[in-house]
Amino acid sequence: MGEFEIKCLECGKNYDTGHVIYCKNDTSLLRTYYSAKRLELKNAPGLGKFHDWLPVQKILDTTASPATFKSEGLAEYLGLSNLYIAFSGYLPEKGATLKTCSFKELEAHTTMQWVTECGGHALVVASVGNTARAFAYASALTGIDAYIIVPPSALKKMWLPVPPTDSIHLITMEKGNDYADGIELAERLAEVPGIFPEGGARNVARRDGMACAMLEAVISMGKIPDHYFQAVGTGTGAIAAWEACLRLRDDGRFGNNLPKLQLAQNLPFAPILHAWEAGRREIIPEIDMPNAKEQIKQIYADVLSNRNPPYSITGGIYYALTDTDGIMYGVTNDEAGDAKKLFEKLEGIDILAPSAFATAALIRAVEEGNVLPDDYILLHATGGGFERLKQDISIYTIEPTMTVSGSDADVEEIVNFQRSQ
Ligand SMILES: *Cc1c(COP(=O)(O)O)cnc(C)c1O
Ligand SMILES: [Zn+2]
Repeated sequence: MGEFEIKCLECGKNYDTGHVIYCKNDTSLLRTYYSAKRLELKNAPGLGKFHDWLPVQKILDTTASPATFKSEGLAEYLGLSNLYIAFSGYLPEKGATLKTCSFKELEAHTTMQWVTECGGHALVVASVGNTARAFAYASALTGIDAYIIVPPSALKKMWLPVPPTDSIHLITMEKGNDYADGIELAERLAEVPGIFPEGGARNVARRDGMACAMLEAVISMGKIPDHYFQAVGTGTGAIAAWEACLRLRDDGRFGNNLPKLQLAQNLPFAPILHAWEAGRREIIPEIDMPNAKEQIKQIYADVLSNRNPPYSITGGIYYALTDTDGIMYGVTNDEAGDAKKLFEKLEGIDILAPSAFATAALIRAVEEGNVLPDDYILLHATGGGFERLKQDISIYTIEPTMTVSGSDADVEEIVNFQRSQ
């Protein structure tokens, strides 16, 4: 038994630390409860610093770290005196060293370690981009096998900052398959003994890994912010940020407030926004995401396209928004395009699309009076620095090992073929 317990938020069932994703009794999220109430940073180069609040036994040895800095350019432009930017990407002069350029890397390093500690020897993940790249990178660094399933459209995002290794099994699906088909195939592969699903929002290793962005930010700011801005797809990152602040509030050194979650979705696809604005705890697909497939085709930030976010379940986004008196924003592609240019000009670093949506939400919040000029504001740039990275290091392409026809592909054949490679 380690220094933490994993408990169900609804029925309170306490699980021994280990490979647990679902409560036996209900649909609630599980949460980690750490015996260290006060976060003592470990002497480690990257995420390992936050070991007290990570659900792994061994201290992570990755050098990867997010970083937070006080904004000057954007802050002045918006008339804000305490605007901080959490940069989960590559900006080494500020200390941000996520070489796959998104906050998915925070969860990938943590989850890979968790897999081995739970007795798994491989992990399977379906993704349309940043998650796939982050897990491929974690696989290259640890040698742990990763089965990564992507639609053909995602291949262009499958690059790495290190040479790809044989432990990366990139599997593409024939044209006509989408993200949902990938998820289905991944679920079938996860039934093979020893191959673990990454678990999505339900996996505490993923959420607590992502929470490191908030931990790092609060330590840099010296206090829990009043507002937190982020673009959301599943909402996992926002739930993680909220949970980090619950722990930081208990810690006692950083204030006893929670940040108001101010979250952005990419119009026209915005199921969380619509359900929240209607005051509903449920997402009703016909109302909140009619013609979802068509809507998703129109959005600029494709990683914000999850059709099944953990919204209603106990401990999910509805709870996080309620607990923090949160606000949702619907942001258009054009608004985000303008915000991207503005951010890049004023802060001097390139950002990925979702960071532009978060920035656009902040601009709107200033206009609408949802933040005050002296409030402590944290803007999470969840991805960025790719242009900057390319100046510093070589980028390698990950080649797919096979293409399968669809979600009903023969799983045993896939595994045997991959193991023979
Ligand atoms: C996945 C992703 C998001 C959305 O995060 P969720 O946890 O799915 O809400 C935002 N920004 C970037 C860069 C991402 O890769
Ligand atoms: Zn339960």
